[in-house]
Amino acid sequence: MAGLVVLGNASQPVAGDLIVSEPPPLLHLLPGNPPLVLVVNGSRLFEVDVEYFDQLRQDGEGAEELLNFGTPLAAPATGNVPLVPPNAISLNIAQSCNLSCSYCYADEGRFGKHPVLMSKKVALAAVDQLFEGVVPGQRATVGFIGGEPFLNREVLYATVEHASKQARSSGSRVGFSVTTNGTLLTKADLGLLRDHSFAVSVSLDGSGEINDRHRRARNARVRVRRARDARCDRQVMDRGRASGRLRGFLL
Ligand code: SF4
Repeated sequence: MAGLVVLGNASQPVAGDLIVSEPPPLLHLLPGNPPLVLVVNGSRLFEVDVEYFDQLRQDGEGAEELLNFGTPLAAPATGNVPLVPPNAISLNIAQSCNLSCSYCYADEGRFGKHPVLMSKKVALAAVDQLFEGVVPGQRATVGFIGGEPFLNREVLYATVEHASKQARSSGSRVGFSVTTNGTLLTKADLGLLRDHSFAVSVSLDGSGEINDRHRRARNARVRVRRARDARCDRQVMDRGRASGRLRGFLL
């Protein structure tokens, strides 16, 4: 039974900035008064006595009892189920934003004054890892989120190009998604969204007046108008595969 128990959240090894997949722990030991044990399968939390807690910590003796407690007919523990390779990834390519929304979870877009952009190396490695598990004919999806992903335009473009190549060479298909505040979109960006299979979500907040009050720009007050300009771009609206989604959000 030793080896089943991991104290707290063990830091996972990384290679090339990507998380290496390992069998997850079955139990987490949480020292304290009283000591607690979290059984991952079913997210069950147990209060245990100190003696039993120490036993678990030393050699895992008695862990079976907890793993099976109250679940005689339970499905196999999560740790025993092989992980299926993902067919979709979501890349946070810009932990940074050009807006400063009043309610932003990320320190009004400042991200604790530590903005970070994902490197091209990491983004392309993530795409390579995705396509290792994609079979011919399957459709993979690469999503871009932030912050504001278009602050890291170069990496976004490179990733789209790389994923498209990977899909062609592996006989699979790829689609993309992006969540953007829409304020930095250029004509070239609209062309990218049009020319690839993109689902685009543009975040606005209520009417133009309410949006501009709460979704403040750092250096200008023309944001909603710029987003509307994107909606009116005939190039996108007439022919773009992204146009349906844009129409839905930019009313
Ligand atoms: S657009 Fe999003 S990430 Fe940027 S400041 Fe507003 S809520 Fe935060």
